[in-house]
Amino acid sequence: MITWRSLARTFQKHGSLKIQVRRLSLLEHHSHQLLKDFNLPVPKGYLVTTPEEAEDVVFNINAPSVIKAQILAGGRGKGTFDSDQKGGVRIVNSPREAYQAALNMLNHNLTTLQTPPAGLPVHKLYIYKAVTISHEYYIAITFDRQRNSPILLISDTGGVNIESSDNLHKLFFHLETGITPEIDAYIQAELGFSDSEMEDIKAMLCDMVRLFKEKDATLLELNPLVRTGEGFVCLDAKFEFDNSARFRQADIFEQGVEEGTKQEEDVKRAEELGLSYVRLEGNIGNIVNGAGLAMATNDLITLVGGRCANFLDVGGGATKEGLKKAFEILGGDERVKGVLINIYGGIVRCDMIAESIVAAAKEIGGFKVPVVVRLQGTNSEKGLKLIKQSGLENLVVEADFEKAARMIVERTPKFE
Ligand code: GDP
Ligand code: MG
Repeated sequence: MITWRSLARTFQKHGSLKIQVRRLSLLEHHSHQLLKDFNLPVPKGYLVTTPEEAEDVVFNINAPSVIKAQILAGGRGKGTFDSDQKGGVRIVNSPREAYQAALNMLNHNLTTLQTPPAGLPVHKLYIYKAVTISHEYYIAITFDRQRNSPILLISDTGGVNIESSDNLHKLFFHLETGITPEIDAYIQAELGFSDSEMEDIKAMLCDMVRLFKEKDATLLELNPLVRTGEGFVCLDAKFEFDNSARFRQADIFEQGVEEGTKQEEDVKRAEELGLSYVRLEGNIGNIVNGAGLAMATNDLITLVGGRCANFLDVGGGATKEGLKKAFEILGGDERVKGVLINIYGGIVRCDMIAESIVAAAKEIGGFKVPVVVRLQGTNSEKGLKLIKQSGLENLVVEADFEKAARMIVERTPKFE
């Protein structure tokens, strides 16, 4: 019999299905310090944990000031607090307003596109004097896995809308030579920086490459880097570091929070709920019943061009509660861009499983990513019909295993 333990081992042994590597990320106030250490321009910020402190800081630095929730997820500006439904980046115009904002932010949950649906608790706020922005840029250095090369990404439509921006320039470079004069010239021509601005940009790129190399980063993203009356300032940054460099970067690894913790949390949560969970590195979530079916599902999805993000075994019963928990775990995994529910109804009839799927989906407020349901076994036609008639959005049904696998791969953005 295939057990979940043996399944996880098999995946790890055959490189084709690598378990996701741990990634270390930093909170914003740590990132700002690191940028500052490398001469990159950041606002002078203050970390607070009470509304009184927030009020004091704004009293001292003067309004308008920016108050930012410190969580390990982006999209805070467009996020929502469970307290007052406002975002995680706020501009306040007086110390009193700072107090009120902090009161509504501290110890409340902030939900963004990158957090679990229930959001993340906020225990720290970062405050700096607001700058007047005339333009927002995006600059990042990372590795391009396909070309095995460092790559510089730059765009003049940075800020909170970067994900919908299509004028992202991609420039390969060598870590030895850094950003060459040719690349600088290209950037100046494409983004229209004046000569004096370009001098600042060149210096920043040079510092970014130095930081990237010296700190063993795998991602260094400035977004937005803003143009102000007093030159460029980096308002937000995101870092990731090479996990195998831990021994060299002890200070950073002490400050940071490993994404692996989240991964372990998911496994632990699943176990507590009596579900088996294996995390993989793709973007299609799978909900199955039985380890054998999990393997077959993974094989077929891979065969038709997709990549699995995980397996979640809801067990023989596939009850409403089990499915609801499974949906919540997948919903909290921002990598999951499509879900295949592949269930074999043997002892439990498919119409009953269908009822559970519909009820659980309604309880979590429906699906935000495309979902394909494949039910096979006793009463499967009846079950599929029930799901079809449920009126749930983003959901299609298919009885045939291979067709269902193709359908979810077609509906999910290609994994890169
Ligand atoms: P994110 O939403 O988590 O990425 O948080 P950011 O730190 O990137 O802030 C989101 C947005 O808030 C930025 O893109 C800016 O438009 C805005 N913002 C942040 N700081 C300031 C500031 O000092 N002045 C102004 N005018 N806007 C700011
Ligand atoms: Mg940002």
